[in-house]
Amino acid sequence: MPGLTLTVTVADCLPIYFFDPQKQVIGLAHAGWRGLSQNIIRAVLDGLQKNFNCQVANLLAYIGPHIKKCHFEIKADRGRYFQAYPECLIKKDRRIFLDLTGLAEAQLKTAGLLKNNIASSNVCTFEAVNKYFSWRRDPAAKIQAMIAYIGLPPKSHLS
Ligand SMILES: [Zn+2]
Repeated sequence: MPGLTLTVTVADCLPIYFFDPQKQVIGLAHAGWRGLSQNIIRAVLDGLQKNFNCQVANLLAYIGPHIKKCHFEIKADRGRYFQAYPECLIKKDRRIFLDLTGLAEAQLKTAGLLKNNIASSNVCTFEAVNKYFSWRRDPAAKIQAMIAYIGLPPKSHLS
């Protein structure tokens, strides 16, 4: 898809970038806890396989800045969506935090991506006050969603 740029908006959710270097195909997903609970990663990979004949084992994935387990508290009843990933539910002082990074990485691996082809940002958007907007940290009235993008240069730039 040379010359095409994909975008999603995020504000604490995970932008997940995909790149197939062999087929020169890109993908981009907006994944929050809802999307991950419904396995949006599997849906993206199905699309890349069906439409572009990508092999999952060739794909590179990068999880961009998002809210980390240190600040992503969830309501107790939402834990049920993630029972298959107990290591991603962190209980602390009767509160429950969800490790979205660990969850996305686990789902990518389950889907067949190689461990060495998955990388994640270490940044917590909640903490990076001067750099990122955070839905959880900032009042919704002042929303400043961020744009994540990925693109390949037009063909004429490649040679
Ligand atoms: Zn944090």
